[in-house]
Amino acid sequence: MRLDVLSLLHSSSLKKLGVSLIDTLFPVRCISCGSRGECLCKRCLAIFPRRLKQRCPTCLKKTTPRGEVCFGCFGLSSLDGLFAASMYRSPLVSTSIHTFKYRFIPSFAQPLGNWLAERVREVDLPLPDYFIPVPLHPRRLRFRGFNQSALLAETLIDELTPGFDIPIIKDSLLRTRFTKPQMKTHTKEERQRNLKSAFSLLPESIPLIRGKSIWLIDDVSTTGTTLEECARILKDAGAKNVFGIVLAR
Ligand SMILES: [Zn+2]
Ligand SMILES: [Zn+2]
Repeated sequence: MRLDVLSLLHSSSLKKLGVSLIDTLFPVRCISCGSRGECLCKRCLAIFPRRLKQRCPTCLKKTTPRGEVCFGCFGLSSLDGLFAASMYRSPLVSTSIHTFKYRFIPSFAQPLGNWLAERVREVDLPLPDYFIPVPLHPRRLRFRGFNQSALLAETLIDELTPGFDIPIIKDSLLRTRFTKPQMKTHTKEERQRNLKSAFSLLPESIPLIRGKSIWLIDDVSTTGTTLEECARILKDAGAKNVFGIVLAR
């Protein structure tokens, strides 16, 4: 009898029944319109707000075609540019990113990463030598179970370079100090203090980074301080060009 039950449990039809039962009880629904099947459906992605003008990440005033640092700010920042595809103040964008990160739903990486890849393709940015996702502190990574920026970077690579994968470097740039989220800081000084010595680069990675162009990938950039700090470390190690790519700012 026991054997019969075991074989039943292992039968594929029962597994399928279990999966469809889970789908029925807890169907995946679009976060925006509630339709079944995807966490963010194609119809809602089509109206996902686009940032039509990119600005220099240093002065935030001059508009530049792809978010490059403007002529007047040249040399003032370690970042060579910051491309932000959308606006975080849009409720659809902030809710999607919030659910992705704080409700632990990694499947958002696919629709959001695909959408980001389309925007990047539109501005025709030259592809980098490496992708580096902004790292999480190991304690936060253990808690969340995934690094949202690394998942976005993986989707971007799949979409932008089918057939010839650009390497993604996940274990060289490290977040060595546990900090509070930048969103919870109030002043520029507090943000800079919060991130002081928060990141470091493994010394054995320096030859890998030297002379290379890098895209730093993050989900959101609030003030640019995190990307700036990561870019500074990569530039100190000899990176030729560091461009931030974020879903929203
Ligand atoms: Zn929808
Ligand atoms: Zn500027």
